[in-house]
Amino acid sequence: MAPIYGAIETGGTKCICMVASSPAHIFAEVTIPTETPAKTTTEIAEFFHRCENWEGQKIERVGLASFGPLDLNPKSKTYGHILITPKIDWQGWDLLGEMERNLNLPVVLDTDVNGAALGEYLWGAAQGLKNFIYLTIGTGIGGGGMIESHLLHGLVHPEMGHILIPHDRLKDPFPGVCPFHGDCFEGLASGPAMESRWRTPAFLLPEEHSAWDLEAQYIAWGLHNLICSLSPERVILGGGVMQQTFLFDKIRKRVNESLAGYVNSYMILDNIEEYIVPPALGNRAGVLGALGLAITGTANVI
Ligand code: ADP
Ligand code: ZN
Repeated sequence: MAPIYGAIETGGTKCICMVASSPAHIFAEVTIPTETPAKTTTEIAEFFHRCENWEGQKIERVGLASFGPLDLNPKSKTYGHILITPKIDWQGWDLLGEMERNLNLPVVLDTDVNGAALGEYLWGAAQGLKNFIYLTIGTGIGGGGMIESHLLHGLVHPEMGHILIPHDRLKDPFPGVCPFHGDCFEGLASGPAMESRWRTPAFLLPEEHSAWDLEAQYIAWGLHNLICSLSPERVILGGGVMQQTFLFDKIRKRVNESLAGYVNSYMILDNIEEYIVPPALGNRAGVLGALGLAITGTANVI
């Protein structure tokens, strides 16, 4: 029998937990609201204890793809902890340690966006690619991905949502919502930034509203920087705001305008519909990526 694994995606509002041996063989799944860390961890552990012996088979390992920022440096004293976050209850929480103790299983941890990137690499839009990025544009903007088939890590982990992009305050006087930087990429273009600037939730803004041209321009400038820095072979855009699928063509057009023919690849010049794409796994990328972390057994070397 194929080994079975656990997968957890912890998000700002909910956590998805799963027991599976592959995306085609999912045995149990539950969604748990994200509340205090102790309560949420207990509920997650209860689910896995109920599934502990799935038809006589034990869970080998659990993959955990989590919101952050996270300390992912194995040499650090606070390895596996959640760092400074507006979610005050979770700040400093020993996410990895508490999960391993409560589940009594080995846990492989990475960011939610690296999880989604791994899911897309194994089963989705990044199959066969060695270099790509996965960017989510939702409550925040976050990015993960791979360089030469290794998930992106580093000093802490990339914070692609906090890069600086052009901001013409005459055309857009909105100061931005990032508590740290004001008008960084996330401060200008996240879902809450749209809601605050236009005083309407993003999903209620009609397609003809000028909000979407501005949004596409900011995302295109963000991508300009990331494409020039990392040279990804594909850019996958997920998250709530990208549910507005008409945004893709607006972004593609502006990325081409902004790069102005300088990044000389047919993927950008002639094939941009296949270069900037939605996640093939849709909103399942994160939890399936967590399953991928459990199956591969490491977030560091693939
Ligand atoms: P999270 O980032 O918390 O994991 P999401 O990726 O769903 O969750 O992002 C939530 C943000 O995306 C909210 O700011 C919301 O306004 C926005 N959003 C969610 N659904 C849509 C939609 N269909 N169209 C535009 N914006 C959306
Ligand atoms: Zn910022």
